[in-house]
Amino acid sequence: MSRYNSVLDAIGNTPLIRLNRASEETGCEIYGKAEFMNPGQSVKDRAGLFIIRDAEEKGLLEPGGIIVEGTAGNTGIGLSLVANALGYRTVIVIPETQSEEKKDALRLMGAELVEVPAVPYRDPNNYVKLSGRLAAQLATTHSQGAIWANQFDNLANRDGHVVTTAEEIWQQTGGEVDGFICAVGTGGTLAGTAMGLKRHSGHIKIGIADPMGAALYSYYTTGELKSDGSSITEGIGQGRITANLEGFEPDFAYQIPDEEAVRIVFDLVGSEGLCLGGSSGVNIAGAIRMAREMGPGHTIVTVLCDYGNRYQSKLFNPDFLRSKNLPVPDWIGTTPQFDV
Ligand code: PMP
Repeated sequence: MSRYNSVLDAIGNTPLIRLNRASEETGCEIYGKAEFMNPGQSVKDRAGLFIIRDAEEKGLLEPGGIIVEGTAGNTGIGLSLVANALGYRTVIVIPETQSEEKKDALRLMGAELVEVPAVPYRDPNNYVKLSGRLAAQLATTHSQGAIWANQFDNLANRDGHVVTTAEEIWQQTGGEVDGFICAVGTGGTLAGTAMGLKRHSGHIKIGIADPMGAALYSYYTTGELKSDGSSITEGIGQGRITANLEGFEPDFAYQIPDEEAVRIVFDLVGSEGLCLGGSSGVNIAGAIRMAREMGPGHTIVTVLCDYGNRYQSKLFNPDFLRSKNLPVPDWIGTTPQFDV
């Protein structure tokens, strides 16, 4: 058992969990990196830690300084827990459409929340752009200063995955890894892990799993960024080439319909005791497709980004599922009848 000096040491070093059904169906070994086991319960704790440490090393943060970020939620949670542990404040700009559970988690951490309407990136009031303006404003008005975490274009995000996620996967598999695949929010996880793994072996294949209707599948298969933004998955589905994605080229690209992703999420609850968020479903669907394309006998790793309780009011809510024409699993919303 490990013994840590602070919660920060508990970030990363997450286990790889064999996804039994996916492995059996494909004849491959498919593993999920259990990022929901981070202290903030998502893969984004890593980005939070590396972005704040990088700002400290560059002398950009004073004690009591404010960290401002635009986030679908998980990065805000990661930043808040790291900031609290190190003596900073966090101001988080989040689109109203994100799950109430993520907003509540941010409130619990003491983050100052600014909820804004969800508008496209080209709109000056998009949450990312607005958070950048707010950071610039607070940098001049707050006596201890403020920084913009800027996870999309801040390479400290990707670097964190080069030195942690990729190294961990390489060690955990004893170098016996043939493929890595995941979806993209900022691209930090995918591009950083790919970069780190490719440094160990140029033979490792990299895949991108994009939610249906998102732009990167179209970009990597046709060169054109075209999207309709229709997926229910949160935290993924990027519409532009962020700085974290620059220089990145996948070997395989897949677009995953919501129905395929949610069926996997629901199935994992009952069959493997894993209750995950929607982006993990997209990732596992991508890993299954990649396993089929590569053929049996390969080891493929993907990311279990966060836990299902973060989406109980949406992904696990029968009314929400029906409103999106998605399947409702029979164990959701039914009350057991016992005669005792
Ligand atoms: N899944 C979830 C639930 C997320 O919140 C995020 C980050 N927004 C991702 C996946 C994607 O991670 P990244 O930003 O590293 O691309």
